[in-house]
Amino acid sequence: MFDPRDHLPAPTELAGRVIAITGASGGIGRAVALACAAHQANVILIGRNAARLEAVHAEIAAARGPEAAIAELDLEKALAGDYDRLAAALLERYARLDGLLHNAALLGMLAPIEHYDVPTWCRVLHVNVTAAFALTQVLLPALKKSADASVVFTASSVGRRGRAHWGAYAVSKFALEGLAQVLADELEGISQVRVNTLNPGRARTAMRRQAYPAEDSATLPPPETLTAPYIALLGPASRGITGQAFDAQPSAAAAASGSSARSSS
Ligand code: NDP
Repeated sequence: MFDPRDHLPAPTELAGRVIAITGASGGIGRAVALACAAHQANVILIGRNAARLEAVHAEIAAARGPEAAIAELDLEKALAGDYDRLAAALLERYARLDGLLHNAALLGMLAPIEHYDVPTWCRVLHVNVTAAFALTQVLLPALKKSADASVVFTASSVGRRGRAHWGAYAVSKFALEGLAQVLADELEGISQVRVNTLNPGRARTAMRRQAYPAEDSATLPPPETLTAPYIALLGPASRGITGQAFDAQPSAAAAASGSSARSSS
């Protein structure tokens, strides 16, 4: 049975592939972008902060990875024309897309539903779900031009089993699981595009710090250590696998039965 956690990527595993990653400016997205480039993919770095994206671009160039590209897109503010321009530029430059990782997300606030701020709810649902839907929609023609395309939505344990106070973030991650299942079912048998979700598990990033400000971050795995399952799902190793939900780390239950109820996000 395919499990991306078992995967050891070959050095040139992603050679010749074009892979777009949202939220590539920091955290897990940056680590996966660097890893994809290190495994020879042409990476398209999508994000809202040009300076941070340029820093990742420079890291890829310094490591002599294949030429990367930057696509500035603020998922909170982008309008239809912005999505269309990105898709047109991508098709013009690469003629196809082999991988799309939806990684960008907002945490929003941790609060009970009874007191959850409505504008924050709308922002989180928009960035985490609606923007991912819109980007997938405009990039589907490019994905369909690939002989072996993979769409990966980033999941979370609180989007597989609801947990108090995780509010819009948890609901948005449940919605992504649904979006992935619907899309996978629509595309199976009529295209070479597969669609799956991947829960990275707890990782040492800005979002984790926001959720757990008192936590000792030294106890968390750095994002660089979690990239192999992403490569497995974005690359040839997962060919034919679609409509499934995966984890990048052992599940909280398996890893630490009896640990705190708030042990991962
Ligand atoms: P970070 O906060 O470190 O990174 C989030 C990324 O999303 C940043 O690149 C950020 O860009 C980008 N982003 C946020 N808002 C927008 C926007 N409006 N437009 C474009 N880009 C935006 O988080 P992580 O690396 O921890 O999270 C990555 C993914 O992993 C998320 O989907 C998260 O839900 C998931 N996850 C993380 C876990 C963890 O423990 N860290 C656990 C489970 C799931 P900018 O640099 O401009 O802020």
